[in-house]
Parts: sequence; structure tokens; C-alpha cells
Amino acid sequence: MGRVQDKVALITGAALGIGRRSAERLAEEGAVVVLADVLEEEGAQAASEIGGQASFINLDVTQESAWVRAMEWVEANFGRLDVLMNNAGISPAGDVESTTYDLWQQVMNVNAGGVFLGCKYGVGLMKRHGGGSIINMSSMVAIRSSANLAAYSASKAAVRLLTKSVALYGGPLGIRCNSVHPGGVQTRMLDAFRKLFPDEESANQALARQNPLGRPGETIDIANAVLYLASDESSWTTGMEMCVDGGALL
Ligand code: NAD
Repeated sequence: MGRVQDKVALITGAALGIGRRSAERLAEEGAVVVLADVLEEEGAQAASEIGGQASFINLDVTQESAWVRAMEWVEANFGRLDVLMNNAGISPAGDVESTTYDLWQQVMNVNAGGVFLGCKYGVGLMKRHGGGSIINMSSMVAIRSSANLAAYSASKAAVRLLTKSVALYGGPLGIRCNSVHPGGVQTRMLDAFRKLFPDEESANQALARQNPLGRPGETIDIANAVLYLASDESSWTTGMEMCVDGGALL
């Protein structure tokens, strides 16, 4: 019996990185996983490597009509939604002066708007079938910002408080909602950061120096936190900010 046996989980941004590893981890513990992304090829490949319990759907999290279709598809195929991981995100760098208003809107649209739509339509489906667990991917920079991440940190701060609002609304409906706040995790998202260093080794050392545990985060570190929040082991935990950052925020 797995820790999330037979739960139906939809994960956005699941073609790569943290989303993909979380989908794998949930599937290892018995969940039926739906990987959602705009990257068709990588997403379908990830689902096929996970195997029988996994499927892929094309979902751009910024498109409201796509969310409606996705929830209809999940209900028609699996009858309910137990876990929703709102993970899709983008992280273009830029300080308040260099960030264009277009870029600001794009980042807010994907990182905050996409999570809002996920919560809105996820709650709608979950409440008809006894509740569920929503896990929103925020960031440590929602709590401690960085000059060069003006739009990104603002978008992740929006996710932090939206999560608490959803937790308050969803509690009586049996819906929990928590946010996860990773530190620097080894994914494609850190490519721009890595390019600031002459080689791989010095980039790793810089990441390791950011936290007292002295190493960069791996996708499995976040996937294990997601697994806990998805499972009934966290059944009395809602509205929480789970920092998974090697202690960086300390
Ligand atoms: P990643 O770039 O490897 O993966 C992001 C995924 O989101 C990709 O598969 C991408 O195609 C998808 N995506 C982007 N826009 C989308 C859209 N409009 N609709 C659907 N899918 C879309 O990055 P990652 O590191 O795995 O990031 C996952 C989440 O974790 C993001 O929300 C990110 O902000 C957050 N996070 C990452 C780090 C880190 O250091 N890697 C730290 C803190 C928070």
C-alpha cells in the first residue's frame, strides 16, 4: 500500500524538473498521475516512462478554457481529483528598472494567474467529491526577495497568500491548500544563474554556500515534501508555508 495509493493527482509543469520528479514520486507511492504541461514531447515522454498509472495532457496554465477542459477530462476519466500540484512557473531575471511591464505581466500571468486558475477550478472539482489537497509551488524568494527577481518574487509572494485564502475557504469543504518554498534546486530554471560562473563546480559551490546544509537542492528534496502534503499524513496541515531550502532562509 503506497502513501498516496489510488489518489488522482494532477501536476502542472510536469514535463521537466520539480514537477516531473514529483509526478514520479507520487506514482511510486501508488497515485494515478496526470502530467500537464505546454511541452508536449517532453511531457508525453515523462508520462510514458512513469508507466501505466500516468497520462499527459497539454495544459497552458494561463488559459482559463484549458483549465475547464482539463477538469472535465479528469472527472470523466478518473471520477475525481484528490491532489493538485500547481507547479508550472517561469523565472526571468530582472530588477525593477530593467523589467518591462510586458515581462511583469507575463510572469504574473503564469506564476500567479496560473495558480489562481488551478485553485479556482481544482476547488470546483474537489468539493464535489469529498475534498482534496492543493499544493502550490512558491519559492523562498516569496519570503526574502532579491533585487534581480522583481517580478518573480512578487508573483511567488502572491502564491503565498493566495494559498492561505484558499486554505481558509477550502477547509469546510475538506480541501487543504499549502505552499512549498524551495531554495535553489538543480533544474533548467537555474541555467541563467549557472552561466554567471566560469564552470559547473563554482556554480555548485555558490549554490551550496546559500544554505547551512551546504549543498544545492535536488528535485527529490521537493518531491518528498510534495508527497507528504499530498498524502493523508498531512491531513491536519493547511495554509502552511513549507520551506525546503536547506535552511537558506534562516
Ligand atoms: P523547470 O523550468 O525545469 O520546469 C518548469 C515547467 O513549467 C516546465 O516543464 C515548463 O514547460 C512548465 N511551464 C512553464 N510555463 C507553463 C505554462 N504556461 N503552462 C504549463 N506549463 C508551463 O523549473 P523547475 O525548477 O522545475 O520549477 C518548478 C516550480 O518550482 C516553478 O514554479 C518554480 O518557480 C519553482 N521553484 C524552482 C526553484 C529552483 O531553484 N529550481 C526554486 C524555487 C521555486
